[in-house]
Amino acid sequence: MSTFEDLGADALLLPGLRRRGIRVPTAVQAGTLAEAHAGRDVVAVAPTGSGKTLAFLLPIARKLRTEPPPRVRGGAMDAMQRLRALVLAPTRELAQQIGREAEALLGGTVLRVGVAYGKSAISPQIQAIRKGVDLLVATPGRLRELLDADACSLAWLRFLVIDEADRMLDMGFLPQVQAIAERCPAERQTLMYTATLPRQVEELVRTLVREPLRFGERTTAARAEPVAWGVDDRSKTLLLLHLLKDASRTGVLVFVRTRRRAGWVAEALHRNGIRTGSLHGDRSQKQREAALAGAAEGRLRVLVATDVAARGLHVPALRCVVNYDLPLVDQDLVHRLGRAGHGDAGFAEAFAFVDSQEVDRWKRLAKACDMDPRLKPLPEGVVPQPVKPPAGRPTEAKRQATARQQKRERLERIEAFRKQRDDLASQRGRLRGKQAAKPIGTGARPGKGVRKP
Ligand code: ADP
Ligand code: MG
Repeated sequence: MSTFEDLGADALLLPGLRRRGIRVPTAVQAGTLAEAHAGRDVVAVAPTGSGKTLAFLLPIARKLRTEPPPRVRGGAMDAMQRLRALVLAPTRELAQQIGREAEALLGGTVLRVGVAYGKSAISPQIQAIRKGVDLLVATPGRLRELLDADACSLAWLRFLVIDEADRMLDMGFLPQVQAIAERCPAERQTLMYTATLPRQVEELVRTLVREPLRFGERTTAARAEPVAWGVDDRSKTLLLLHLLKDASRTGVLVFVRTRRRAGWVAEALHRNGIRTGSLHGDRSQKQREAALAGAAEGRLRVLVATDVAARGLHVPALRCVVNYDLPLVDQDLVHRLGRAGHGDAGFAEAFAFVDSQEVDRWKRLAKACDMDPRLKPLPEGVVPQPVKPPAGRPTEAKRQATARQQKRERLERIEAFRKQRDDLASQRGRLRGKQAAKPIGTGARPGKGVRKP
């Protein structure tokens, strides 16, 4: 079995890793580190919790430590030139978590880590970056703001890391990520990691990497198969309360479809005396941090979240995942299930509440993930709420309104897809032009040929 030394890791960093109990490389680390250390691009697909973060931090750490940036006048380092590694992550919490992991790794070295994310004051982040950081972990939106404010430059980057790559290449983030990648030097090393890589994004991946090492572990098999119940939407909260009657269910992460639903469910649990926090886009950064800390320390029994919490978070206290609603994006089911069971207590269980509208999707999802698609009848003691049409609204009018809404959404999706396809075509054209114009010389230095800010 290979060791971190065999895989090319910087010997100086190993005692620190050992102190944190990290001795044997995981499969994704064993499979990618040697080539990543050698400078090759990587596209790696590996299950959640398999140590992908270290798989990119170690090569970055070695290169940045052994090849310091040039000194300018008086022997000082130029803060702009110091920024040589960028890690893009989709959410603030994940950026913070990666930042913490990077600090734990680089603590004893001269390398400095910066973290930048939106919905919090930009000026402290600008100051920190101006003081000089070697590695920046950022969410794409905030990074664009920092670039627009001339707070940093990507001209000297050696590494571009895209964590949760498929999420970063979906329509929400793609334009930002592409704009950022265009500002990075062509002769960078690009490392991409994800637990799921749908075939549709494969073409996009190819625009960002060059002859990458591909690493893939089968990830569709979830850690635990959810028990799925057929339950009408109106009775989902009752079913959740029923599950929580069992006091041994702690560290419960409940995923809902929207921020508003998160608010309603959290409120219902509060009213029933259950210590609950919530994590979604309408909460302030402070509230989100408090909720996460509360769950991590066991002060909160339940965390109600939207899919902002589905990706990458590592909270050992979480043991149970409830899919109150099915995820909107198919592959998020695997990510959700991957959020629990990181601690010593292990994974307890997972549930899916499937209402009549969701049955077909559930069957499709279950099949794709090799899970039992059958729905269970409600447990004894849960009496479904009677379903009655909302008062004052004629049902037929509502049905028509829903049909119109669905049609609108369908058209929007088609439009967005067309736009993505066109962007992709022009992006490929541009990249080809760029690479032809600037061949990569063997003695190329970072930033060569790249416009200075
Ligand atoms: P992923 O990004 O694949 O979901 P993470 O990188 O967040 O997973 O890692 C999950 C946890 O595993 C982290 O706490 C990390 O410190 C730990 N870890 C990483 N590599 C190893 C290893 N080789 N041995 C033991 N623990 C590890
Ligand atoms: Mg991760």
